[in-house]
Order: sequence, then structure tokens, then C-alpha cells
Amino acid sequence: MLHQLIYQESDDFYQLNLHSSQQALGAFCSGGTVANITALWVARNKCLAPDDNFKGVSRAGLAAGLQHYGYNNLAILCSKRGHYSLSKAADILGIGREQLITLDCPSQTLSPQQALAEGKKLAEKGIKLLSIVGVAGTTETGHIDPLDELADVCQELDCHFHVDAAWGGTTLFSNNHRHLLKGIERADSVTIDAHKQMYVPMGAGMVLFKNPKDSNTVRHHAQYILRAGSKDLGATTLEGSRNGMAMLVYSALHIIGRQGYELLINRSIEKANLFAKLINDDPEFELVTDPTLCILTYRICPNALQKRLVEVDIQQQDALNEALNRLTVKVQKQQREAGKSFVSRTRIEVPKYPNQAITVFRVILANPLTTEQDLKDILEEQKQYAKGSRVYQQIA
Ligand SMILES: *Cc1c(COP(=O)(O)O)cnc(C)c1O
Repeated sequence: MLHQLIYQESDDFYQLNLHSSQQALGAFCSGGTVANITALWVARNKCLAPDDNFKGVSRAGLAAGLQHYGYNNLAILCSKRGHYSLSKAADILGIGREQLITLDCPSQTLSPQQALAEGKKLAEKGIKLLSIVGVAGTTETGHIDPLDELADVCQELDCHFHVDAAWGGTTLFSNNHRHLLKGIERADSVTIDAHKQMYVPMGAGMVLFKNPKDSNTVRHHAQYILRAGSKDLGATTLEGSRNGMAMLVYSALHIIGRQGYELLINRSIEKANLFAKLINDDPEFELVTDPTLCILTYRICPNALQKRLVEVDIQQQDALNEALNRLTVKVQKQQREAGKSFVSRTRIEVPKYPNQAITVFRVILANPLTTEQDLKDILEEQKQYAKGSRVYQQIA
């Protein structure tokens, strides 16, 4: 069902590939981390595939693979907003965390032109780009990389295209918003977490493959189980035994249904836009990133100070931002400890303040029962804490 949501293949395709001992549409796993690792594992094994003179990386190992193909190294490319699980994947797959190239994203998303240039630069150094990872809904800000254009770049560089839609993939349920993910159907693999916007308990991640045969690049057989021709679900997955979480996803798809998910997704995005408006209308706050999906970031920064920040020199700007960072942390902790509501925080780079990352409140509007009044109350509470703090009194 989720493969179809992304790739929209024909009935014949699914007839052939569902419950097949020959290939798999994807891998069900405990979360987005394992899904991303699996996708890049497949990408690595495809890149260093067996041929007449080589047994393939999964048997011969990385060193032999690099030597056989004449590469100095492999690399993975994503934007600075890529999830930290990609770094774990680079480590586990023997590629090394430093070979995860993370490009700055001043426009909030990965630039296809920059990705292409970087891929060519790597190739000149004998480094094979294994995969570009486009994020559909970054964990911190909900931004979506230009997937269609990145698919073109991957084609040109002849590398695997993985889309990390752990967080934002469910946007595909919404007819109003699915266009935001245009190009996802061109990805070789896609990660989706059902325990995020599909509202099932933790432990329900998936990676889906455009070409079900890709799953065979990581296939493993054992004598007591996973025998050739068997449909055991451990043959093409990283994890062996795991909880039957697929059942919850299947049930939720029947109980909530596509239309139910569409409603939830649409409502969350509407509510994020409403919250953005409340923040924009309040002279005490600065909206830092607009919601593309239902995530936004903001901070306390009175209008007059916002004006001053863009007029002063870089040093003064840094000093003011440092003070505002302290304020955000202080208010966030105070609100958390008061226990009435909780807003998370993160540090991000934004175009407006090119010199340094700033600390911001990060909000996900996921609960369909959250009311406008709840949102207003959260802002009021934050203002109250801010006004009681010395930092605020000094800078505002
Ligand atoms: C949550 C998330 C992950 C990791 O998922 P886990 O389920 O926590 O392992 C990976 N990528 C993105 C974009 C995410 O939001």
C-alpha cells in the first residue's frame, strides 16, 4: 500500500511482486534510521556489484570493491539538514562519516546545481558518489528538497537516489499537498516512518524500493531459515526477528484510511499556517522558518530588535543573536519545567543571519485536538517568561 502511494505502479506490477520469494518491494524495520541504513546498504552493494572477476562488496569487502572498480573512496551527499542517521549509515557501511558530504543550504534546501558540481568534483578525485539523499520534510524545519531536479542530477552522475521521507512521506496522502513531493516517484529508494505522521506507536519504519530486485543486493541465506526460495522476511532486511509492527500500519490504513490521513495531514498543515500567522502578528516574536509542512521554527525577538539586527554590523549582530539564543534556551527550559506545555528547540542556520546558527523554538503541529486557544496560550506563556528574564530586559 505504501509502495503504491509513492510509485503508483500497475496492478500487474503488484501481482508479480507482492509476497514474492524472488524480490521485495521494501523492508519493514524498526525506524527511519534502519530504513536509511538499508537504503544506503543497497546503494553500496549496487555500486560495487559482482561481475565476472569480482564477487561483489558484500562478499569480498569494501577494500576489494574499491580496488576492483578503481575508486579511491565512496561518498554520500545530502544537505546540512540531513538526518544524523545518514552519518551512522556512512560509518556502518565502512564509507566513513567524513565521506558524508553535507552541503550548506542557504535557501533551506539542497541545491541541485551545487550537488551536481560536488559530484563532478568528487569524480575528479576518484571518489564515486554512492548516493544523493534528498530529504522530504527535514526533521528540524520540515523543508523538502527539490526531488525532481535531484533525480536529474542522480541520473547525470549515475548514482542511487534515496529520498528520506521518514517524516514527510505521508504528505502523499493529501491531494492538496502531494505535489510538494514531486519527483519522489523517481527515487530508487524511499524511507517512511509510520510512527511519525501515521500516528502508530514507535518502531514502524520502512524503506521502499522502486525496483524490487534491488532488495536482492543484500539478500542473505542460511540453512536453518531463509532457505533459497523461502519467503522469510529476514532474507532481505538488516534486522532479523522484530515486532509485527506492520500489522499496526496495515490496521491503521484500514481504520484511519487514506481519507483519514489526508484529513490529518491537511489539518496539521493548516494549523501550522495558523500558528505562523499568530507568530507573525505578535510584535514580540520572529518567525524563523515558514511551515512547508506542519513544522515551523520561531523565537522571541521583538519587532524593533528584528529591525536593529539587520542594520547593525556583523559583530553586533552576533552578540545580539548570542543573547537571543540564551533567551530562547531559558524560556524553553522554563516552559518545559512548568509542565503545562512543551515546545522543543534546535539550532539552525538561516539566510537572514549568515554568520552563525541561531537557537529557535521548533514546533510540530501533529495533534488534531490542538486548538487556536492552546497556541495562543503557549505564546502568552513564553512572553511571560521572557519578560521576567534579565537578558530580555537588556536587549529589548
Ligand atoms: C525521524 C527521522 C529519521 C530517523 O528515524 P527513527 O525512526 O528515529 O530511526 C530519519 N530521517 C528523518 C528525516 C527523520 O525525521
